[in-house]
Amino acid sequence: MKASNMLLATLKEAPNEAKIASHILLLRAGMIKNEVAGIYNYLPLGLRVLTKVENIIREEMDNFGGIEIRCSAIQPKELWVESGRWVKYGPELMRLEDRHKREFCLGPTHEEVFTSIVRDLVKSSKQLPILPYQIQTKYRDELRPRFGLMRGREFIMKDAYSFDKDEAGLEKSYQKMYDCYSKIFTRLGLHFQAVLADTGNIGGNGSHQFMALSDIGESEIMYCDNCGYAADVEKASIKEMEKDNSEMLELKEVETLNQRTIEEVSKFLNVDPKKTAKTIIYHDYLNNKLIAAVVRGDREINEIKLCNESGSNENYLELAKDEEILSLGSVHGFCGPKGLKCDIYIDVEVANSKNLVIGANKLNYHLLNANYSRDFDGKVCDLKKAEKGDLCPVCGKPLNQERGIEVGQIFKLQTKYSEPMKCVYVSEKGENIPMVMGCYGIGVTRTLQSIVEQYHDDFGIKWPLNVAPYHAVIVPINYKDDTQRALAEKIYDELKKKHVEVVLDDRDERPGFKFKDWELIGIPYMIICGKRANEDIVEFKVRETLEKTELSSTDAIKNVVDAVSNIE
Ligand code: ATP
Ligand code: MG
Repeated sequence: MKASNMLLATLKEAPNEAKIASHILLLRAGMIKNEVAGIYNYLPLGLRVLTKVENIIREEMDNFGGIEIRCSAIQPKELWVESGRWVKYGPELMRLEDRHKREFCLGPTHEEVFTSIVRDLVKSSKQLPILPYQIQTKYRDELRPRFGLMRGREFIMKDAYSFDKDEAGLEKSYQKMYDCYSKIFTRLGLHFQAVLADTGNIGGNGSHQFMALSDIGESEIMYCDNCGYAADVEKASIKEMEKDNSEMLELKEVETLNQRTIEEVSKFLNVDPKKTAKTIIYHDYLNNKLIAAVVRGDREINEIKLCNESGSNENYLELAKDEEILSLGSVHGFCGPKGLKCDIYIDVEVANSKNLVIGANKLNYHLLNANYSRDFDGKVCDLKKAEKGDLCPVCGKPLNQERGIEVGQIFKLQTKYSEPMKCVYVSEKGENIPMVMGCYGIGVTRTLQSIVEQYHDDFGIKWPLNVAPYHAVIVPINYKDDTQRALAEKIYDELKKKHVEVVLDDRDERPGFKFKDWELIGIPYMIICGKRANEDIVEFKVRETLEKTELSSTDAIKNVVDAVSNIE
């Protein structure tokens, strides 16, 4: 490819909304371009990378027994009503109507559609297991689309769904996909970790997320160096404290004028925040009721765990308004579990502690020495957000924490969709048995950007060779110089013959300008034809290290051809 034909569109500065390196670099390198928040166009260089990422995913999915199909992005409402998700999915679902007022959505995921296809096509158990997948565009009306391709409203996902006869089959399919994902992310060069995960909107039981490790990741991973336990913070549990067996003291009401927060109250009363409990009241719009969650004063509530316990959904959970709190016989800033007129969820730690400070449900008052079971009641469960230093639930050693970008997630769905949607096979006894399902997603475009997040420096992107838009670029210092141009073209022809994806920078620009462009774009190898072209000597520059050596053109060609032939 000649650079003059390439629609190169590098920018000196990225638009203001780009905050993280990978987003800035993809925009500056002219790989992507957007018109509205969270919706991107892929320009020629970006599309080349995307295609390579997709092909690696496709190859491994095929190797591990997947069978590719492609579904429409538009899905009829009826399928979502069958699965019970039309309402539950909430405002993230992009809904639309046709001219006959029939309702549809733009698929955020395809459990319903794949289940519908398989129930129509597969009748006999002999056809199972089956693992159809697709690489396709998804739509989610994210509350805060951000960080470029990381959280878009339109993005590309590889989604796969396994259909098995029974649980044992699902276990096998799930393990297969776990191994397949490990292979894919390894081939893509990502530093990643598989962690235990919550099942969220998708449902089912049992899930792992694949996290590309990165400080800008939106996910928090809790992990144990000692035994290898690793979980997303939404899911992470901890080894709970032993029950405090001290004596219960007398419950006392104290005035705490204008002291509302845990920090204020514990300072005012001179007690450790660990000896207080905080009560947060939520409006659960899914079940249309108020609920209360109680955790130790020094803890944060994990709303995902609360939703799992209360049967709500994170999209439908909001903090209660002041007047709603009043309707429960309490008052904002002084809420406590004693006598509160709603369902109460109590963290194990609170139940295991003694003599806590709690709100008195009365303006400007708290209670001292409150104890679970004697003074207040509720459903005891794990509601807290795990923190660094908490003890590992498996081996009891302190947990560590790091950040990650969720690039993939796999779920055991069991019969969550096959049962309501009647995706069944006929057993030998003639019974209709629901298929046992799993689902497996990779954020293809998020993965692409995660690679940039892990492979860049101050000058630009450093694509791993197997996903780079081109393997090599030839830059003549002065294209008008006959000797330099002749050598450049000779190398270009030679590399193309050897199936190297190569660019010849034939633009009439200053050399510094051209070098900067290719360093920003991140082409792994640069061959510079300059002063010593007449001696058949070029400069060979490696993008990863920025190391430059003088070589004969034959050696430079050999270096690139060898590297390309070693791509896995
Ligand atoms: P998140 O918690 O980040 O919103 P999710 O749990 O909703 O992700 P899944 O439903 O499991 O995501 O989708 C499968 C994969 O699709 C995710 O692992 C992620 O890599 C990718 N993905 C999800 N939402 C987006 C998005 N808005 N933009 C880009 N990729 C996304
Ligand atoms: Mg999401």
